[in-house]
Amino acid sequence: MTVLFNNVTVFTNDERAADGGLLAGAAVAVDGPRIVAVGSQQEIAARFPGAEIVDGGGRLLMPGFVNAHMHFYGTYARGLAMSRQARDFAQILSWLWWTLDKALDLDAVYYSTLLPAITAVRKGVTAVIDHHASPYAVAGSLDRIEEALSVVGMRGLLCYEVSDRDGKAIRDAGLAENERYIRKSQKARADDPHHLYDGMVGLHASFTLDDDSLRQAADLGEQLGRGHHIHVLEGPLDEQETQARYGASVARRLYEFGIFSPRSIAAHGIYLDEQGMDLVAERDTIVVHNPQSNMNNAVGRADVFALLQRGVTVGLGTDGMTPDLKVDVRTGYLLHKHHLTDPRPGWNEFQQMTLQNNPAIYRRLTGQMIGRIAPDYLADFILVDYYPPTPLDGGNLWGHFLYGIADAPVYMTVINGKVVMQEGQLPGLEAAGLDERELSEASQKVARGVWDRFRELSD
Ligand SMILES: [Zn+2]
Repeated sequence: MTVLFNNVTVFTNDERAADGGLLAGAAVAVDGPRIVAVGSQQEIAARFPGAEIVDGGGRLLMPGFVNAHMHFYGTYARGLAMSRQARDFAQILSWLWWTLDKALDLDAVYYSTLLPAITAVRKGVTAVIDHHASPYAVAGSLDRIEEALSVVGMRGLLCYEVSDRDGKAIRDAGLAENERYIRKSQKARADDPHHLYDGMVGLHASFTLDDDSLRQAADLGEQLGRGHHIHVLEGPLDEQETQARYGASVARRLYEFGIFSPRSIAAHGIYLDEQGMDLVAERDTIVVHNPQSNMNNAVGRADVFALLQRGVTVGLGTDGMTPDLKVDVRTGYLLHKHHLTDPRPGWNEFQQMTLQNNPAIYRRLTGQMIGRIAPDYLADFILVDYYPPTPLDGGNLWGHFLYGIADAPVYMTVINGKVVMQEGQLPGLEAAGLDERELSEASQKVARGVWDRFRELSD
C-alpha cells in the first residue's frame, strides 16, 4: 500500500541538488519501509492514484536525526544524589558511572531505554548508536534495549561495553553478549534487510582493556565482520594509564590492534595529538563528538576541525546527556566559537556533521540507506511544525535549522515507513497496551532500587 505524505516542503538533504534540496508544495510517496517517489504534489498524485493520503499541513518534511553516540542507561543518573563532589573526570567515572552501571539490573536496562526513546522520537531522532554497560546484568542486556526500542519503533545499532575493570569473568560476559547479539541481528537482517537493529563490538576505553582483551575484541570483530565502538581519549587519564601500563600511546595501540578501522567509532578523541589524528585518518576511523557531555565533564574540546581537514568522518552524539540530538548540535556549534573567541568557525562543519556525516556513519556501519528523502532510501523522516518567519530556501536552510527548526516541535516521526509518533502520541505504546504514565511509575520504582544499590556500592 502506497502512502502519500502530501502538502509538505521537503528538504531532501541531497547536497548535490541545484535547488539546495528544498521542494515547496511537494509530496513523498512511501511503500512499505521505503520512499518510492518525491516530487510536486500534482506529479505524485497523478503517479499514485488511490494511494492513502496523509496531509502534511504545509509542514517541513526532512530526514530524521541520527544520534551517533548514546548511553541510554545514563538516564538513571537523572536526579541521583551524590554523597561527594567529583573533582575531575577520573572521579566522575569511578564515583558515578562505574558505580551506577553495577547497580543496573535487566529491568533497569529496559526502562532506562524506553522512557528516553519516547522523548527521542518526539524530538525527531529516528536512529541511535548506543553504547551500553551493566556489568552485573550483562547477558541479555542488549535484548532488553532492543525490546524497549521496538516498542517505540526506533532504529538502533547496539553494543555492550567490554572492560577489564570488573574482572575477567565480566569481561568475558561482555564479549559473549556482543557476539550473541551481533549473530542474532545478522540472522534477523538476513531474513529481513529492513530489520531495525544491528550490533557492533563495544569496548570501554584503552586504559581499562589489556592486550589480551583488545586482541579478543579485534578477533571477534574480524570474525563477525563488525567494527568497534570505543571511547578514545575522553580525558587525560586514558593516555596516562595506557602509557604507564602498555608503553604505547592510545592511538598507536588501537591502531596496532586493528581497533581503528573504517567500521569503528572512536567516541570523543579530545586528547588526540597530531600523530594520533593521522592514525585515525589513515584507517578512516569514525570519530563522534559529544559537545554537551564534554562540557559537563569539563574535559576539554575535541579539535573537530583538524579531524575534518584530514578527511575523517566526524559525527555528533549526545553521550547520554539528552535523547535530543538537536541540543548537542547547537551547543557544539556555539562551544567552539566561544572557546576560540572567533565567530567564524563551525558553520559548515556542524552542518556537515549533522546532516551528512551522521547518516553516512549509520549507512556505513549497517548498510541501511537512511538520511535522504529520495527513492530507494528508507522512510525515516520527520514532519516539523516549522512555518518560517523569514524566507526559507535551499541555500539558507542551515541558518533556519540552527536558529529555528532546532526549537520547532516535531509533529510526526516516521521510521521504516511507519508513523511512530504523531502530535506527541506513540502508536507503538498503544499497540503494546502501554501507558506512558504507568511506564514512568514503573521506571521510577526500578530506579529507586538502582539508587539504593548505588548507595550501598558507594559506601
Ligand atoms: Zn560515551
